[in-house]
Amino acid sequence: MREKGKLRRAVAVHLRAIRTLHQVSPRFFPIQTASGLFNAIAPYVTVFFSARILRELATLRREDVLWKWVIAGVACVGLVSLLGAVLKRRYETLLSDLWGRKEILFVRKMFALDFAELDKQENHDLREQIRENENWASWGLMKVAYVYGDFVGGVIGLLSGVALTVSLFTSPVPETAGRLTVLNNPVFILLLAAIMAAVSALAGKLLAASEKCWGDTAQEATLGNRLFGHFGFIGLYKERAADIRMYEQQNLVSAYWDKNSSFGADGPIGRLARGKMGVYAGLGVCVTTLITGSVYVFTCLKAWGGAFDVGSITQYVGAASAMIANIFSLTGLVGTLETNTGFLDQTFAFLDIPNAMYEGSLTTEKRSDRQYDIEFRDVSFKYPGSDVWALRHVNLKFKVGRRLAIVGENGSGKTTFIKLLCRLYDPQEGQILLNGIDIRKYRYDDYMALFSVVFQDFRLISQPLGANVAGRMTYDRERARRALEDAGFGERLGTLDRGLDTMLYKDLSEDGVDVSGGEAQKIAIARALYKDAPFIILDEPTAALDPIAEAEIYGKFDEIAGDKTAIYISHRLSSCKFCDEIAVFHQGRIVQQGSHDALVADESGKYHELWTAQAQYYINEPSTP
Ligand code: ADP
Repeated sequence: MREKGKLRRAVAVHLRAIRTLHQVSPRFFPIQTASGLFNAIAPYVTVFFSARILRELATLRREDVLWKWVIAGVACVGLVSLLGAVLKRRYETLLSDLWGRKEILFVRKMFALDFAELDKQENHDLREQIRENENWASWGLMKVAYVYGDFVGGVIGLLSGVALTVSLFTSPVPETAGRLTVLNNPVFILLLAAIMAAVSALAGKLLAASEKCWGDTAQEATLGNRLFGHFGFIGLYKERAADIRMYEQQNLVSAYWDKNSSFGADGPIGRLARGKMGVYAGLGVCVTTLITGSVYVFTCLKAWGGAFDVGSITQYVGAASAMIANIFSLTGLVGTLETNTGFLDQTFAFLDIPNAMYEGSLTTEKRSDRQYDIEFRDVSFKYPGSDVWALRHVNLKFKVGRRLAIVGENGSGKTTFIKLLCRLYDPQEGQILLNGIDIRKYRYDDYMALFSVVFQDFRLISQPLGANVAGRMTYDRERARRALEDAGFGERLGTLDRGLDTMLYKDLSEDGVDVSGGEAQKIAIARALYKDAPFIILDEPTAALDPIAEAEIYGKFDEIAGDKTAIYISHRLSSCKFCDEIAVFHQGRIVQQGSHDALVADESGKYHELWTAQAQYYINEPSTP
């Protein structure tokens, strides 16, 4: 009963997987079905015609009849084989294509996930496990494609086999055959057919038990794959080459090569293959061979008794062996199906991660006067899975068109503040208000359109420069050029032969250009300007910039931000001192707020402490202490 429930669930999960794959590759299953059909019946077509030709040869030997069978046989076998081959090719192409297409499901999910979910390590681990199991033995969605093919082939093969074998049991041995007439006894025939089916199924069970061992090795194998993926290609990475030579890291790597036992002949998988898994599979084949032998004996005895001629022997033996092989593989498939269910559960656990963030329905009216004001009202926030408050009781109001600086030491909560402002996370306590309304009540995409952020760890894409700036392939070229000029990239743009069409990086084009950290920063700023959102936020530029360069970028940015509300984040105070208002973060709280002059005058404050500590960088600047 439990077994039945298990199988029913396995079938249900696999049917869902088929529907899921069908969405990304609608032609795959129809072509696979047709290919399975033609390739499964092909051997029986050959058996059928060979039997007719042999019978004619062994009996009446009529030339015209023989010619008819030969021509019909060649035509039918040729046609079925040709169609089978064409469909098989098509199926194989679509199968390779499916490997790529099913990734669309995961990528779409990644794009659509709530940022907070994306940030959770457990979700990354789950995705990684799915990928590793798939790399190991196609477990998960891809296994469904193979299982489906085997199922279609198995069922059609079985039915064709039954059609060609029925008369083996029903053709009577003539009464003159003496004791061999026992072969006509219906009880005997039923018994034999039942034994044949049962023993083939037993062989399939043995195969299923052997298949299950593959599933049991998944943990070991995925670890082996992970090690192989890491150590196996370590010599290929340019950026590692110097360290490898300097510290002879090959010694550490070769330890892996020497001890890589996962896939070695004497490793756990190799031992399993020689042991339990091999024994089950071997026994399965033995049983199948025994039963095929018995069918041979039965067929020959009936022929000996005169039930049919030599041509039919070929047909029956061929058809019965193929039928047994199909029962064997179909029963074995149950094992694969049940093992794969666990892997599919993992896949769907990932694809079904719910988006828990409440999405409001209010639209943010597009105001030409950009009169938006933002308020943080007693906001507290912990990262998912963390016990520590990253922000605690944060209160802050900022007025439109102003320059706000968020300063504080590393880890004080500055970036977290921006992530909450952009609704990448929702706070656990307190509220963030836009024009007096909780930001959760707005439509998410509408709300996001209000912000242009240059994140600390921004990423450009290996695509043309202009497309990077605009975020799309067709765009307003003049606007993109202006944004690049405003961001300080104008001079460099003039040196690029292909201008906005210059490919960034060399990943996809030999003519691509590699840009420096500072240049990339400028492109990222141009991207933010092109978006032309009312709020523009600059998270601390990368470590690639020195303090003076950072101050320059911020100074210039102030000019180009125009009537937008600009928020600057930095742990370098000198970069932000031109701002109207500065909020000083410390351990997740705002500990001071005011203008640079007021803050620096308060000698007991955090700002003064930081300013004094950083003064050494700016000794050349006349206005600094
Ligand atoms: P800052 O931008 O001022 O350097 P952050 O806002 O990045 O600081 O970090 C504030 C605190 O939150 C730090 O203690 C940091 O370790 C923690 N933190 C940042 N990101 C995460 C995260 N994704 N998961 C858990 N903790 C985080």
